[in-house]
Amino acid sequence: MKILVIGAGQMGSGIAHVAAQSGHTVLLNDRAPEFIERGLGVIAKNLNRSVEKGKLDAAERDAILARIVPHPALERLDGVEIAIEAASEHLETKLELFRKLDAELPPSAILASNTSSISITLLGGATKRAERVIGMHFMNPVPVMALVEIIRGIATSQETYDFTESLAKQMGKTPVEVRDFPGFVSNRVLMPMINEAIYALYEGVGSVEAIDTVMKLGMNHPMGPLTLADFIGLDTCLAIMNVLYDGFADSKYRPCPLLKQYVAAGWLGRKSGRGFYTYN
Ligand code: NAD
Repeated sequence: MKILVIGAGQMGSGIAHVAAQSGHTVLLNDRAPEFIERGLGVIAKNLNRSVEKGKLDAAERDAILARIVPHPALERLDGVEIAIEAASEHLETKLELFRKLDAELPPSAILASNTSSISITLLGGATKRAERVIGMHFMNPVPVMALVEIIRGIATSQETYDFTESLAKQMGKTPVEVRDFPGFVSNRVLMPMINEAIYALYEGVGSVEAIDTVMKLGMNHPMGPLTLADFIGLDTCLAIMNVLYDGFADSKYRPCPLLKQYVAAGWLGRKSGRGFYTYN
């Protein structure tokens, strides 16, 4: 199958990796060729690690990489059966992409979004193919995490759902069906916890290390909430909190001022080298 992946950042590169590893041809797009190159570099590094560990042989690695084709312009999309959008968590960016993709993709193609929180119904409404628009929410890091949340917009057809569910399974993932409410299930539960951890830091209840250690050793979480926030990206965390806050019009979802300040400073976590922790 030919799959178009839009956005070659943390998530898009992971989705391209797993799709190519499952035997599909991937057209990888981003807003500039250097971002595609960066994404391809990350995929190559991760595949090399698997080769070093003896989980993959070098010929398989080369075949997977050969199936990922840089595709810097959103045109010449004939033969694409599904586009998976993984651009930044920014509503206007996604709406513009969905309008463009609707115009350029073959009429039969499905348009999936990896959005963490934006309404699938709203994205579908920006197209003339709302019945073929669906949420395909992978978890980070995509090659490791088993879950794909599959979100039906109000107009998503059963055929679109079935196609997306079977693609997720074929990619080795476990799909879970959820409805189109802000944050779906994953981020409606996870993100207020992360935001509350940031409030605990903001109010001086505990240090970064104390908060993370309490949740790791006390609650058996594999990583503390502040480590996880850095890993997700603080810009993405803030965008999701804003979607919850606007979507439910409930003050319990107000983003912590400290989170806003970190994002304003460009401290976005692991991807920018600094967040609650510093990274080389
Ligand atoms: P990221 O910042 O690592 O990557 C986003 C990429 O999108 C960048 O490379 C950027 O250049 C590209 N981009 C922006 N505008 C574009 C456009 N108009 N056309 C093409 N490419 C464009 O972010 P990410 O963490 O990969 O997140 C991407 C999406 O996945 C977001 O919707 C996010 O909410 C979602 N998501 C993130 C996580 C996570 O843990 N980070 C988990 C699940 C879902």
